[in-house]
Amino acid sequence: MAKHPREERTFLMVKPDGVKRGLTGEIIRRLEQRSLKVVAISMFQPTREQIHEHYPKDETWISRLGEKTLTTYAKYGYDAKAELGTDDKLEIGKMVRGWLVDYMTSAPLVKMVIQGVHAVDMVRKLAGNTMPSAAEMGTIRGDYSVDSAAVANKEKRAVHNLIHASETAEEAEHEIAHWFSPDEVHAYNRAEEDLQF
Ligand code: ADP
Repeated sequence: MAKHPREERTFLMVKPDGVKRGLTGEIIRRLEQRSLKVVAISMFQPTREQIHEHYPKDETWISRLGEKTLTTYAKYGYDAKAELGTDDKLEIGKMVRGWLVDYMTSAPLVKMVIQGVHAVDMVRKLAGNTMPSAAEMGTIRGDYSVDSAAVANKEKRAVHNLIHASETAEEAEHEIAHWFSPDEVHAYNRAEEDLQF
């Protein structure tokens, strides 16, 4: 049976830049303000292996990362082959994935399961565009970060964008199962759930 829409869950992680800038509380505040509830939460130091398992391993996803980097290089007139030694999107995607593992293991992370109406889309909307420089003001990334692919790729590192949030309900299920055991995810009603909208 399909779940009640109020029970939709998503996975969110405060990335190293969010933790080190003391933005964990502000990020949670913005979620709770929208009636989303934190049903699991924990700070931990991830291993490289755990992060490797977190990000998709299929070539389509990796090529997409590479393609985005190539687009950035073309847009800003950088020579991908000269700077990265290749202009193959899969090879560059693997490189970016490696930068992501370096970034995500550089400090403790705060992982959470967030539940509520349209949780997946709501959290992505609150997060804003993947590239902080393109994220709308009023979103977490737009208000607190200014990083971009142009800067990050020039410095051969992943884009620092404060949080990770699942993109689809299927991805959320997979990520929640990867990062939490069922007994770590809690059930409770927020006060307004007992009232009418
Ligand atoms: P999102 O995190 O918004 O779902 P993606 O799945 O496209 O975005 O990418 C995963 C993460 O990889 C991003 O959050 C960002 O930290 C990093 N990233 C994405 N594209 C690039 C890029 N071109 N160069 C460097 N890092 C990138």
